[in-house]
Amino acid sequence: MRRAYKLRAYPTRPQEGRTVRLLADHCDLYNAALQERREAWRMRKVKVSYGDQSAQLKEIRAADPDGQGRQSFTAQQQTLRRLNATFSAFFNGVRHAKGKQRRVGYPRFKPYQRFDQVLFVAGDGARWEPADGGRGGRWAHATFQTVGRVKVSQHRPVVGRVKTLQVKREGRRWYVVVVTETETVPLPPTGRSVGVDVGVARFLTTSDGEIVANPRFLDAAQRRIVDLQRRKERARPGSGNRRCLRRALAKEWRRVRNQRRDFHHKATRRLVDTCDGLALEDLRVAAMTSSAAGTVEKPGHNVAAKAGLNRSILDAGWSQFMRILVAKAESAGRQVTLVSPASTSIDCHICGARCTRPRQDTVICPVHGGLDADLNGARNIAARAGLGSGQASAA
Ligand SMILES: [Zn+2]
Repeated sequence: MRRAYKLRAYPTRPQEGRTVRLLADHCDLYNAALQERREAWRMRKVKVSYGDQSAQLKEIRAADPDGQGRQSFTAQQQTLRRLNATFSAFFNGVRHAKGKQRRVGYPRFKPYQRFDQVLFVAGDGARWEPADGGRGGRWAHATFQTVGRVKVSQHRPVVGRVKTLQVKREGRRWYVVVVTETETVPLPPTGRSVGVDVGVARFLTTSDGEIVANPRFLDAAQRRIVDLQRRKERARPGSGNRRCLRRALAKEWRRVRNQRRDFHHKATRRLVDTCDGLALEDLRVAAMTSSAAGTVEKPGHNVAAKAGLNRSILDAGWSQFMRILVAKAESAGRQVTLVSPASTSIDCHICGARCTRPRQDTVICPVHGGLDADLNGARNIAARAGLGSGQASAA
């Protein structure tokens, strides 16, 4: 399975200059190869293949030691392949053109300003170093032949074996596109499939009754953030003290993000290891926020503020949690089903009647009485995903 990560790169000024030169060299190569194909076709009606052009690379490099000769051989091959793909599209387009209106134009020369990407094969003229040895720091590095070691902001973990690294220019910004390959290593079946409800009071509840509490770091982080926030607001605007507190606050949030990611990796690992099938609410349909907001009613000012912060710490992480879960499940051959979140928490999972919710953790069905709100939600999710009651466990 292939996965692509587009990450912002921050070359230094000299590195940027060398990257521009890299693009220019590849642009020259691209245009020269295009020229050759054009002429061969125009004069002799001969199609030049990728193989023909790749075979000439050695000669071209030898003749231009300060230009093409410096660049990565395999990266040059990728640029020739790219041209080849353009031609294939053109010829196919022409062939399909009869009777259809879509038509691909004859490949054109590219000006330097519009030649914006070069593809490297990892380990051959390019190297990837993940942030913090892969444990979730922010700065990774990508090294490219003739450019050097460039800082890359790694905003999410790069999973799998790195296959290619692409340098990309978009306007004035630079990116590195990292393509990885992960092997699907199917885990043994467990016979367990569950619905999973994620929440504010508890981190998650499964339809067969497993509970994962909120991580401990949450309370400590919350206390420190509230404290720093208050001190910052009291500090004089523009003062050194205020700046200092702002930095401390940013650092605290960074720490929370790292701890949260770590926690998500552990929680998802456990779910994927122990379940064949998992069902979750599709939280991109942001019903969550509104429904939860309506339930934290008047529990006193302080508590509300605390709950609000608690939520924002968790909230920011739910999409990450889902993303990590889906990625892990895919590479383990497990099934993840996303269901619509509409009223999963408020309808009784047994009879479907609309419940009342006097407290955050309890719903009351007119027929079945009080139910654990999260468990009820998890069972509704399981049912909605077609997992039955979601209570089946390993034999
Ligand atoms: Zn009921």
